[in-house]
Amino acid sequence: MLETIGAETILIDEQNIHHTLARHANSDPARVRAVLAKAAEMNGLEAEETAVLMSITDTKLLHGLFETARTVKETIYGKRLVIFAPLYVANLCNNECTYCAFRARNEELKRRVLTQQGIANETRILVEQGHKRVLLVAGESYPQEGFDYILKAIDTIYATKSGPGEIRRINVNVAPLTVEEFRRLKERKIGTYQIFQETYHHDTYKRVHLAGKKRDYDWRITAMDRAIEAGIDDVGIGVLFGLYDWKFEILALMQHIRHLENKFGVGPHTVSVPRLEPATGSDIATHPPFPVTDTDFKKIVAILRLTVPYTGIIMSTRETAQMRRETFELGVSQISAGSRTNPGGYEDDAEDSSQFSLGDHRSLDEVIYDVAEKGFIPSFCTGCYRLGRTGQDFMDLAKPGDIKAHCNPNGLSTFQEYLEDYASPETRNVGEETIAKALAQLTGLPKKRGEKLVNLVKEGKRDVYC
Ligand code: SAM
Ligand code: SF4
Repeated sequence: MLETIGAETILIDEQNIHHTLARHANSDPARVRAVLAKAAEMNGLEAEETAVLMSITDTKLLHGLFETARTVKETIYGKRLVIFAPLYVANLCNNECTYCAFRARNEELKRRVLTQQGIANETRILVEQGHKRVLLVAGESYPQEGFDYILKAIDTIYATKSGPGEIRRINVNVAPLTVEEFRRLKERKIGTYQIFQETYHHDTYKRVHLAGKKRDYDWRITAMDRAIEAGIDDVGIGVLFGLYDWKFEILALMQHIRHLENKFGVGPHTVSVPRLEPATGSDIATHPPFPVTDTDFKKIVAILRLTVPYTGIIMSTRETAQMRRETFELGVSQISAGSRTNPGGYEDDAEDSSQFSLGDHRSLDEVIYDVAEKGFIPSFCTGCYRLGRTGQDFMDLAKPGDIKAHCNPNGLSTFQEYLEDYASPETRNVGEETIAKALAQLTGLPKKRGEKLVNLVKEGKRDVYC
């Protein structure tokens, strides 16, 4: 049971999680099939049911899990994949997270804090590649200006234009804030505020967070409550897989989600699934205490897709191109592309200031080619948050399937924009074919809107959405 103590502290009930896992350590095939049948109804799963799916080892049942996840993904999200790039502005940090190259005492890392001009330069490069969404990332230390530095960075990114493009949505991944700071973030018109608990397991959390404010488990786990109280209703949560048993983490993540649903009527907009990657000056990052195999990683994505069908799943370039391809089908709805994890990395790729190593080094255009060639529609859409379709309003449209009448046309029109303004000739050819096929498969209102918006873009209009 999840409890709220006083106004703030959320208790992740570890005993309950361990008992649930023990009860379903070896679920029988009939029970697994029953849970998969329920999952196919797309109403989500309870912890007991999720635990049943996590116990699958049999190849046939695993196949059944993946097939069900594929169907749910396709039904809810169609072929769209939302594209974004991280924008690291500073790698100074007061914390000592043993897995991260930015940790305070890491002397092997070259420190860098971008000036506003530097942030504008990075933004321009991303805009000129065709990006429309960025995730602003920083360590937890802004020595010169304090939190105002982040607010100014947001203003700089939104103000930077180049040719026909600009960044239309900034999501933010910075250390937990006070309600007042979250209010100021909200005023800057951010999209999603995102932060990962890293591990929900208290002892492990203490072991890997040695110093700084991040040692405070409760301050971090309550960040989303404060963000939502401040009016930010799209929040993103996640786990850093490899620190502790992934099965425990999934059930704890579910407790966090249920807490938000119970308290605010709506859960997180996205869940991220980073796996530990090698990082300079970090032993634990190279030798994760609980390594997650590729098969288990695919299980994680598929199980999350079935457990919280309407919550976006984000896959970063930590993973290889092959793993990313496989997980798109199983449930991933957003991907980063062409990423650098060092401040200033788009202008000057200095590896010695990176947060961790990447698994996918391809450029945005190469990723787009690959995605489109596999029949997916790379979407640069930012329509929902600009039209106020966030939080509960978004879920009210998503659950009956009505959001597709917006997402499909907007995905196609923003992809067409990319093809017109930024694509290589090869990507443009593949992309045009993919758009034509997608339009042919649409019917009714989405088709009408899709054709109209794509034609408007072909005629030279930009930033058209519904
Ligand atoms: N400093 C803030 C924080 O810790 O929440 C926000 C930015 S931090 C740079 C973003 C995320 O990177 C962390 O939440 C963590 O999950 C992830 N990360 C850190 N080290 C990593 C590693 N070695 N491999 C993969 N992800 C890592
Ligand atoms: Fe700092 Fe975040 Fe890295 Fe921890 S994960 S050392 S808080 S940047």
